[in-house]
Amino acid sequence: MPNNRTRLIAGNWKMNETYSEGVTLAQDLANALSDGAEGVEVVVCPPFVDLKGVASVIEFDKAPFGLGAQDVYWEPKGAYTGAISTDMLKSVGCTYCIIGHSERREYFHETDADINKKMIALLAAGLKPISCCGESLEVREAGQQVDFVVGQVKEDLAGVELATGDELVIAYEPIWAIGTGKTATPEDAQEVCGAIRACLVELYGEDIAGRVRILYGGSAKPGNVAGFLAEEDVDGALVGGASLVASDFAAMVEKA
Ligand code: PGA
Repeated sequence: MPNNRTRLIAGNWKMNETYSEGVTLAQDLANALSDGAEGVEVVVCPPFVDLKGVASVIEFDKAPFGLGAQDVYWEPKGAYTGAISTDMLKSVGCTYCIIGHSERREYFHETDADINKKMIALLAAGLKPISCCGESLEVREAGQQVDFVVGQVKEDLAGVELATGDELVIAYEPIWAIGTGKTATPEDAQEVCGAIRACLVELYGEDIAGRVRILYGGSAKPGNVAGFLAEEDVDGALVGGASLVASDFAAMVEKA
């Protein structure tokens, strides 16, 4: 069934690129995308300290990509040492923010209840969450991936109201495929992304569910991205490693 969701290719730089390296990477990407990114939305998510520099490149080079952060804290301001608020992200030009990445869940003990609070804070601030979910190898080997991921999505969206569906992006990232070079097959991705869409239909109805973008992430690269995007419920990719090489990331945008 055709849909009119705009494809989204998002780069998650993780803890890579110092300020000057980040500016250079953004400039390289602006050059690599100088023919534009026709019909595809492109977003890069650098580390916090790089955001302002990348925003300047976007502004001065008229680069065809937007800006996202990799995390946020849900309180508006105050004594939360080390934390970054939604207003701070907006003040440097972010329009997106990744939440619930498996690395934050694993190394920083982020729970679905935390992700839910971040989701609510971002939406209230008019920022678009890229909310990550995904199963471990153990869960997949037990054949529980659909139930597990749908369970995460439901907890992350508990009590969340959506106006149109355009304001939410969900990224399905099987943990066993992140940074390992092992990719899920397009059919694996569709199985879970289709189940996420069905869960959204149950929660929000067909119209809103039909507008939420669902991305695949996990060793996505120029050579495999088209296969994922051919699947009905895969609307783009969240790209880690390959987003650090401007020509690779641009090649993925071209294939989208
Ligand atoms: P990867 O990372 O593309 O390097 O596997 C994806 C992600 O973690 O977002």
